[in-house]
Amino acid sequence: MICLNCRKGRLQKKITDLSAEVKGEKFVVRMNALVCPACGYTTIEGSLMPEYMRLAADAYRASNGLLTGDQIRERRARLRMSQGQFAEYIGVGIASVKRWELGQVQDLAMDRLIRVMTDIDEASENLTKLKTLSATPEPTILGRPLVSLMYEAVEQEWHASKPYRIEAEDLGGIIESPAV
Ligand SMILES: [Zn+2]
Repeated sequence: MICLNCRKGRLQKKITDLSAEVKGEKFVVRMNALVCPACGYTTIEGSLMPEYMRLAADAYRASNGLLTGDQIRERRARLRMSQGQFAEYIGVGIASVKRWELGQVQDLAMDRLIRVMTDIDEASENLTKLKTLSATPEPTILGRPLVSLMYEAVEQEWHASKPYRIEAEDLGGIIESPAV
């Protein structure tokens, strides 16, 4: 194929470092590309575009601590689930599972859900964290949970013609430290 840039060189297949950008972050992906020996112009075949997108998405996922497409597929395979079964198990549409495995980046909340739903160690770490959080006594004021008092305050403020505000300092004096 003649180079579209200089119209002189003949494009050659070559493993090349290509720059990619995902969600504003720049990465380098290494893959088969077409390079012009005359002018250095680099492009990839249209059929390799999905591969390029997948490598770029995986570079982003790796650098942001998210599971890669292959890792998601491996976890699903470990549970011996089809994409449809896995989608139902996680609570998403099958299209989402397909897209993640092909390279679309899952958001952080979804990543955490997948981890907790697919790995015993991560589920158990989460359980430990949850037990610690649940064991911390809820702050109370005069025996009533702070959270419900705050809800009431917000509701009253909503209805009152003269809105008032409870400042944290006002509460400071009467918050009872729960017995540990
Ligand atoms: Zn060229």
